[in-house]
Amino acid sequence: MQPVPLPLAMAACLACTFALPGCTSPQRATSEPAVVAPATTSVTQTRAQYLMGTIVDITAVAPTEAAAQAALTAGFEEIRRLEQMLSTWIDTSELSQVNRAAGHSPVQVSAETFELLTIALDIAAQTDGAFNIAIGPAVRLWRVTEAQRVPSDIELAIAGQYVDYHMIQLNPAEKTVYLEKPGMQIDVGGIGKGFTAEKVAAVMRRNGATGALIAVSGDFRIFGRRADGSSWPVGIQHPRKPGHLLATIDSTDEAVSTSGDYERFFLKDGVRYHHILDPATLKPARLCQSVTIVADNATLADGYATGIFVLGPVRGLALAERLRLGAAIVDADGRLNVSNRLAQRLKSP
Ligand code: FAD
Ligand code: MG
Repeated sequence: MQPVPLPLAMAACLACTFALPGCTSPQRATSEPAVVAPATTSVTQTRAQYLMGTIVDITAVAPTEAAAQAALTAGFEEIRRLEQMLSTWIDTSELSQVNRAAGHSPVQVSAETFELLTIALDIAAQTDGAFNIAIGPAVRLWRVTEAQRVPSDIELAIAGQYVDYHMIQLNPAEKTVYLEKPGMQIDVGGIGKGFTAEKVAAVMRRNGATGALIAVSGDFRIFGRRADGSSWPVGIQHPRKPGHLLATIDSTDEAVSTSGDYERFFLKDGVRYHHILDPATLKPARLCQSVTIVADNATLADGYATGIFVLGPVRGLALAERLRLGAAIVDADGRLNVSNRLAQRLKSP
């Protein structure tokens, strides 16, 4: 697929409008007397909370308001549970314990944490290390949104001794995680929100939701349909001009994840320093402005959006085609590169 030199106008917002509660099934257009099927109604309820350092916005569709509210409550409880388990902002979390034990001892973790790390290391292998959860020491060095300073090459070289993801040892039998070197730090900022969205969808289904749109910052997990039976239109962010819709994707059962250099960054001497680091240089990756991945699973969509952002349009598009991912890659020059799985689906608003 050659890059399509389109002026970029992709906007960041959820182009979701919420159907009015209640819908009736369509009349049948036949000569027989119309048999009006009993109206099946669904209810739409939405709720937002600040969790995992970001706004989580969930819309639930269910047969009744009580069922929709129950699904929302179960969904947010699941996010809090996973945040306590995975957040390296929480000292008592499993991942914080793994990081503290680096170079000393393996730490036994829950099945979910082990599952997340297994997927993350697989994406690292598939992206040739472009996606790398051992990146923690460099992420802490940059602290892009807080420090707003460019680390020295010496500081980066020192951090570079601790970012080899091959030194993350997973023991499936014991469910333990061991970081071989003191100073290593796992960081799941690039995959943990997608993983959470995936788990929330399963919990909401079990609690009565027939459809939902789960938005954990730029990581969306969609299932089922809206109350009026239509699919969920989702927009993609323009990396340089927010609020301008080039296209929407009509979505029902899939995940849509966007990684971009336009929210967590600072400018210094005209250079944009953002939070998605190239593990080869430990500096902000320079080949893309944003990457949107559409996949069947939100964990994969989140991890590959970050990894393909680092790989760039040529290697990233080739990987997306090989893995049959939907990909909309905005390269450094603002050109749109779209994978086959997505090419027919980008709809103009
Ligand atoms: P993506 O674009 O998906 O990936 C960028 C993030 O991934 C970076 O911020 C970095 O963490 C990491 N990363 C950078 N380069 C790479 C690379 N090459 N490979 C792999 N990963 C890379 N933020 C807060 O400010 N406060 C909190 O309390 C907080 N709690 C959190 C709890 C959890 C469980 C998780 C998963 C995240 C939490 N965050 C918190 C981080 C925040 O929510 C986002 O994860 C972060 O801002 C980046 O989101 P993003 O979608 O832009 O990341
Ligand atoms: Mg990501």
